[in-house]
Amino acid sequence: MMDEIIISGLKIFAWHGVYEEEQEKGQNFVINAKLFLDTSASGDSDSLDDTVDYGKVCLFINDFMRVSRYNTLEALVNNLARKIMIKFPLSQSIELEIQKPEAPIPLPFETVSVKIKRSWHKAYIATGSNMGDSEEFIKNALENLDADENCRVLRTSKMYHSRAYGGVEQDNFCNSVFCMETLYSPIELLTRLQQEEREAGRERLIKWGPRTLDLDILYYDDIIMEREHLRIPHRDMSNRDFVLLPLSEIAPYKRHPILGLTTLEMLGRVKETYVLTMKEEE
Ligand code: ADP
Ligand code: MG
Repeated sequence: MMDEIIISGLKIFAWHGVYEEEQEKGQNFVINAKLFLDTSASGDSDSLDDTVDYGKVCLFINDFMRVSRYNTLEALVNNLARKIMIKFPLSQSIELEIQKPEAPIPLPFETVSVKIKRSWHKAYIATGSNMGDSEEFIKNALENLDADENCRVLRTSKMYHSRAYGGVEQDNFCNSVFCMETLYSPIELLTRLQQEEREAGRERLIKWGPRTLDLDILYYDDIIMEREHLRIPHRDMSNRDFVLLPLSEIAPYKRHPILGLTTLEMLGRVKETYVLTMKEEE
């Protein structure tokens, strides 16, 4: 259970809406927000630096709502929630509701509103490369992702050298695993990772063939999902020591949500080894 900082009934005059009248004249909006975070640090230190300053959050919401223009409450509330999470990084989740008590509805009503919940999610990503300057491709992708305001890289494993998996004759691989927090949904994250693969010049030629950069989602929180183009947890991770060994550095006891085994337990059951060496730290 997380602690909560609650803002209720914040009133802001702004110009969002589909109708011309709403966009020209403007109207009142009422905002309710709940920020989920750990307040124990500032509970001990008694300092505003260790928590989220609700005054600043209110001013930030006010600025955002008065400067931007959205047709729908949905777009407004989604974009605002995302920006608050980025601006106030101690908040792990937010519940945000925007009400429009003066919406142009020709009937008596109290208010209409859209309410959403958004969170930083924890994702584990496996990297692989066996073409060109492999380590550089991997490092670059990590830097780019960390520079994306929707992602923050938390921990990275060492780099491993391993022989190719899947029976195609090719050069050895560099592999690593990293963990990050992200505001992207699983599908958005896959698209974002594929953008990095493309920027590294990756072409999809042969299945399990050589590649400049491969970025696979291993876990996304503890979700289990199966879509045509995305399966989480990664379908084959429990057979791959070049995934489990680096993962065991940063999450040795994390349990696979389907198999129920920790990283170390899965590693103990792997039949074939692919890892040749671990690269020593520079
Ligand atoms: P592989 O990683 O298996 O060597 P690719 O990187 O070419 O092969 O991925 C093939 C497809 O796998 C991608 O187009 C993607 O849609 C799909 N895919 C399914 N689950 C995942 C996942 N968890 N992470 C990344 N890609 C996935
Ligand atoms: Mg892949």
